[in-house]
Amino acid sequence: MSLVLEIANLLNELNPEQRRAVLHQDGPAIVLAGAGSGKTRVLTTRVAYLIKEKQIPASNIFLVTFTNKAAAEMKKRVLEYTGQNLPFAGTFHSLSAKILRIEASQGHLEKFGLNANFTIYDSDDQLALIKSIYKINGYDPGTFKPQVVKSKISSAKNELIGTDEFKDMAHDGLQLFAAKVYKSYEKRLRDENAVDFDDLLSICYQLFVDNEAVRQKYQAKFQHVLVDEFQDTNKVQYSLTRILAQPGDNLFAVGDFSQSIYAWRGADYRNLERLSSDFKNIKEYRLERNYRSTQAILDAATSVIANNMSHPVLELWTDQSTDEKLEIYETSTGELEAEKIASIIKEKYFDQLKNIALLYRTNVQSRAFEEAFMRRQLPYKIVGGTKFYERTEIKDLLSYLRLCFNQLDSPSRARAEKIGKRRLEKLEVWLAKTDRSTLENPSSCLQGILETTLYLDKYDQKDPEDVARLDNIQELFNVASRFENTLLLLENIALVQDGYLANESSFNQNEGNEITMMSLHSAKGLEFSIVFMVGMEEGLLPHSRAIMEEKEIEEERRLCYVGITRAKDKLYFSYARSRFTYGYSSNSLPSRFLSEIDQKLLKINRSFDQGSVNSYQDKYYYKKPKTPATTAKTKDQKIRLVVDEESLDALLNDELDIREFLRK
Ligand code: ATP
Ligand code: MG
Repeated sequence: MSLVLEIANLLNELNPEQRRAVLHQDGPAIVLAGAGSGKTRVLTTRVAYLIKEKQIPASNIFLVTFTNKAAAEMKKRVLEYTGQNLPFAGTFHSLSAKILRIEASQGHLEKFGLNANFTIYDSDDQLALIKSIYKINGYDPGTFKPQVVKSKISSAKNELIGTDEFKDMAHDGLQLFAAKVYKSYEKRLRDENAVDFDDLLSICYQLFVDNEAVRQKYQAKFQHVLVDEFQDTNKVQYSLTRILAQPGDNLFAVGDFSQSIYAWRGADYRNLERLSSDFKNIKEYRLERNYRSTQAILDAATSVIANNMSHPVLELWTDQSTDEKLEIYETSTGELEAEKIASIIKEKYFDQLKNIALLYRTNVQSRAFEEAFMRRQLPYKIVGGTKFYERTEIKDLLSYLRLCFNQLDSPSRARAEKIGKRRLEKLEVWLAKTDRSTLENPSSCLQGILETTLYLDKYDQKDPEDVARLDNIQELFNVASRFENTLLLLENIALVQDGYLANESSFNQNEGNEITMMSLHSAKGLEFSIVFMVGMEEGLLPHSRAIMEEKEIEEERRLCYVGITRAKDKLYFSYARSRFTYGYSSNSLPSRFLSEIDQKLLKINRSFDQGSVNSYQDKYYYKKPKTPATTAKTKDQKIRLVVDEESLDALLNDELDIREFLRK
């Protein structure tokens, strides 16, 4: 009785459209709705409904979302609603990894050259592997850059294109070359008992296609498949969803065309429409009431996204009217922009830092703000930007840990050899005489490694830098102690590191009262009372890489829409009239997206610290160019745009360090 009541309570809090969607009976369904209309809430309430009302066991539900943090939030919500943990809720990557791990232990991945101890290679490992293929074959990295080839291989895998098909499709020098590397790369991965991130999905899919027994097992297990942010699925994710939903086709997908922002990972918002043709009896639900934002914020978002022509824009309304305008701050330089924002936060919002999000287009933009926040002692955290696992000492220990399970792992072996051949020899002797249960216990395994290799001798307790490293190693022990098995620990670290999982450990003592800083991409699905969208300039948002093509401008505009719609109560934009980027200072123009917002909604604050050229709404104000290319101002920029788009891509995706980028 009380269970039913609880569900009734949850349903009571929803509007009739939301309720109808939650109560959808069997068969496929799609919820199409704009930002903040309660899509995610409908999804989690439906899971509660399935568990409590329909008696579907929690373990028979497959709940997936696209971004890291969002998965953790949904799980938490379902736990609150039902008191139950969902063992198969997460990102596509984490869930696929879980399935592969289970199947590998049954020997079902032998066909792919993988046994139960397979390693997940991260971006750095992938690059190391590709570079070693170049070296062995005498390929010149100057002709086709390893980074570029890596991204070609990654796209192919996301499109489910195998090595032979890739070769058949190749029609230029780069593609033919990439096809050769792709083939060797796959062989090396398999020889080394390893997978990369893209493999997690594509091998999982391939396993389902090839192995009927395995496929049927999961199809029977997952009675309901629910997907949030469906507009960001790529081909392999779409295919996985489809196959898992069979035979009952109990697929419940929610999405919004206007929030598709992962085209660079192969996302295709048309997958939302594809569902309707692939599932003939699909039932469509629409939600139009926004519960998140004020009228002004919603109006601004709508007026920006209305400029996109290639996809539908879903209607939204709210009854949260307010006179409060959106504010724009203009400063002369990027440094002053950071100072300005930091001072506003200090003055107005010091007691509600946790309600603030600072959003930027590229991760490198965080630096100036970090410094300004530190100067004013404003605590902050960076989501998705934790570089903990990239620190030398941590990478060193992780490579030892990985070698304990997979001695074929070449990036780890190469790293361990660099740390010291003697140390590696000792480790091997130790491994040969140590029982599996010691290795499988993360803390014992780490302890054993440290004692055997005398790794800590590298560091000096009196050197402050070394002390920080020793602290990091201690933190690794803390993380390790939360896992019951070393392989699970490694898998989790690999996924966290690449942003596919929420980073559940915090390396910050101020947790709870700090400003959240993150890229627009990582902000999807989240909401904050106060939002600062910084760097609103041509070249940053929209990014210079996108300026040449309308299709890409539309993607940037969706990113802008995602940013605006994160705000509940207060939204600030800021931009600088000049900015120091990629090693030189240049004048910048306010983002075209600002000009798309109804001026009545805006309050403009200018600082006249240095004459205001390029000011917002000035007579110099940026107008949409007739020919899109006119904003690529300097020769240098032009060259980089044309020649090295892939590196820029890598830089934007945080796969490439800025210094390395500048060296290219
Ligand atoms: P996005 O497109 O950004 O992912 P969404 O459609 O998933 O947004 P939610 O995050 O589920 O929207 O909901 C937005 C906010 O509105 C949340 O704070 C949610 O709790 C609240 N909300 C949703 N539905 C209702 C409702 N019926 N009554 C009150 N609040 C609601
Ligand atoms: Mg959502």
